Amino acid sequence: MVNTVRAGKLPEEQIALNFSELHPPLDERQAAVEAGRCYFCYDAPCISACPTSIDIPLFIRQISSGTPEAAGLTILDSNILGGFCARVCPTESLCEEKCVREVAEGKPVEIGLLQRFATDRVMELEDHPYEREASGGRRIAVVGAGPAGLACAHRLAMKGHDVVIFEQRHKPGGLNEYGIAAYKTVNSFAEREIRWLLGIGGIKLHTDRPVRSVEDIARLRSNYDAVFLGFGLAGFNSLAADGRQLENVEYAVEFIEQVRQADDLSDVSVGNDVVVIGGGMTAIDAAVQSKLVGADNVTILYRGDRERMKASSYEQDLAAHRGVKIVANAQAVAFEGDERVQEVSVTRRSVAGREDCVVERMVADHVLLAIGQTLVEPPVNLATEHGKIAVQGAGRTSLDNIWAGGDCVAPGDDLTVTAVAQGRDAAEDIHASLCSR
Ligand SMILES: Cc1cc2nc3c(=O)[nH]c(=O)nc-3n(C[C@H](O)[C@H](O)[C@H](O)COP(=O)(O)OP(=O)(O)OC[C@H]3O[C@@H](n4cnc5c(N)ncnc54)[C@H](O)[C@@H]3O)c2cc1C
Ligand code: SF4
Repeated sequence: MVNTVRAGKLPEEQIALNFSELHPPLDERQAAVEAGRCYFCYDAPCISACPTSIDIPLFIRQISSGTPEAAGLTILDSNILGGFCARVCPTESLCEEKCVREVAEGKPVEIGLLQRFATDRVMELEDHPYEREASGGRRIAVVGAGPAGLACAHRLAMKGHDVVIFEQRHKPGGLNEYGIAAYKTVNSFAEREIRWLLGIGGIKLHTDRPVRSVEDIARLRSNYDAVFLGFGLAGFNSLAADGRQLENVEYAVEFIEQVRQADDLSDVSVGNDVVVIGGGMTAIDAAVQSKLVGADNVTILYRGDRERMKASSYEQDLAAHRGVKIVANAQAVAFEGDERVQEVSVTRRSVAGREDCVVERMVADHVLLAIGQTLVEPPVNLATEHGKIAVQGAGRTSLDNIWAGGDCVAPGDDLTVTAVAQGRDAAEDIHASLCSR
């Protein structure tokens, strides 16, 4: 049988159009009009809905008064990856959901777009806007150059510490570089933002440098004054379904990574009938992007009720708008085919948990599993909670001198902005702890 999972299903121009930016930036006039919609609320609910607690009314007022660079700095003071978060935050379930104009009129102030407008102005400046405090001679090792590690490193560098980042992959950025949907972050923004962030100085970045063994960690603990772990989640949940080994059944994040790393998107291979299994942001991103590179039919199978999907209704609508079908209360139980997958056997229930299930066979030449990621056991004995590293306060692990943050710690909501907040807060705590010694 021919392999129908192949590249070049759409002309290059069509693919370029499909992957154009999800939300184009505001121009100056549009930003002024949008900023004018803010009520500058006292005790603003949008601030407490932001995991990095950005002073939103203040930065919007600064845009209104014609000082967008000052607005950008207000944002970056709290969230050094504020430019990236402006592009990828699910604002519809964070700050914009709580905006009083959303509550009263169903149309929030477009905080995300205003944040992007302001941070872009700062990143266009010639010099990095933050200066380092005088060096205190302390050295800190950061493991992982994802949002958590980068935010931690930048804040520590600001405080005058010398930071060394160890990243196992060839490029820094973590999921900013390898995971988040291509249409949310166009024109190599992730790479440009990291270059800008490192402009503060005092941060050495080593890529292709995994920290894997007990000896690696022991070396870091003895050579550095503190260690921050920002490992993320590099493992995968497994699915109890026959036929998992068939060709063209793969993890959704692997497919998404091919899309993000492709020099030419028309080189990305996709099937004709794609079935995505899962209900979160990864499932939506994999489904939408497979449609955008040329799949004919894309279906998301989610085992529970639709209201319980982790993907917000905004994201579900985005997928539907791109032609993706979402089927709730549907569980894949087996993948069928000789060498390659050809069909998925699915049990369907009218309501989750009911026994009235029927078994159907769906045509599928490409299956993407988006059923969650897990922590790869760290090479150091740390207390854990719900399968992640347990932390107290601002990222303190059960071992002295080791802090952790981002997706690898519990509790967490697996969002970029939360990883940034945890990296920043751990850096403050490391600084306070080193100063008190
Ligand atoms: C497909 C997908 C789409 C997403 N979309 C969104 C979105 O639109 N909006 C949003 O807010 N969130 C989104 N998220 C979640 C978001 O990407 C994560 O919450 C965030 O990246 C977590 O940051 P982190 O620094 O903890 O981990 P990561 O971004 O995973 O970074 C961890 C880094 O550590 C490195 N590392 C791991 N182990 C080692 C080791 N042993 N030695 C050295 N380095 C190591 C990794 O290579 C990686 O660079 C998405 C996630 C996925 C999977
Ligand atoms: S809640 Fe809305 S209107 Fe009020 S300060 Fe925040 S953005 Fe402005």
